[in-house]
Amino acid sequence: MCLAGNRSPAQVLRRPVPDRLIVLTFDDAAVSHATYVAPLLKKYGFGGTFFVCEFREPPFADKTKYMSWAQIQGLHNLGFEVASHTLTHQHVNKMNRTQLGAELDSIEARCRAWRIPRPVTFAYPAYDTAPTATALLPERGYRFARAGGARTYDPAHDHPMLLPSFSIAGTDTAKVYGAIRQAHDGRVVILTVHGVPDVAHDWVTTPPALFEQYLRYLHEHHYKVIALRDLARYVNVAEALRLTPRYENLK
Ligand SMILES: [Zn+2]
Repeated sequence: MCLAGNRSPAQVLRRPVPDRLIVLTFDDAAVSHATYVAPLLKKYGFGGTFFVCEFREPPFADKTKYMSWAQIQGLHNLGFEVASHTLTHQHVNKMNRTQLGAELDSIEARCRAWRIPRPVTFAYPAYDTAPTATALLPERGYRFARAGGARTYDPAHDHPMLLPSFSIAGTDTAKVYGAIRQAHDGRVVILTVHGVPDVAHDWVTTPPALFEQYLRYLHEHHYKVIALRDLARYVNVAEALRLTPRYENLK
């Protein structure tokens, strides 16, 4: 038996993880992702992943709050990753395998209809994780799934279906810079961002002036900023899937 956390870094890694590697992820299909975030990322040449869903409350039909699918397609056309956050923002620990499969089907079908590639990454609504999801996602071709936990991603130890991230919501800039500066010695910093601003769920908003300040900092300090799918350049996912899934410290 050679499961359980004893894969050597050399087996899991395709190449060394460089210092200053940041993954930017954006949740919930906030309208500001299309109107404000994407143009700003383009200006700096940064990558990013947009985890989309069709929120029920407030409803996805309200286009003052959420992107349309045409705008989501526009993100793909600009070179960004569009990925799955379930259809209805349903927590994976409240669904069985069939229900989760249906949620994944719905987002995949919409992507197909809008000529967006089938998603290969996933973000857990409310950072809730479950073994149902860590088993089903890779069977369906997903390579990485992101939760929370306010800690760095260590590819040699963290299971690819249970990636931790830091939220940058709010106005605590010291917390955000403290997170960014941990991207060294094989550790990747994944950031969770909601709307900039977030007019659907104001408790997760990031003020545009601060967001712009963070991007400028990443640019001036020569960080490499990528989408979640791009981690496959560094991580051998088939090997990494043999790591022990650990469900603690992901909220
Ligand atoms: Zn969400």
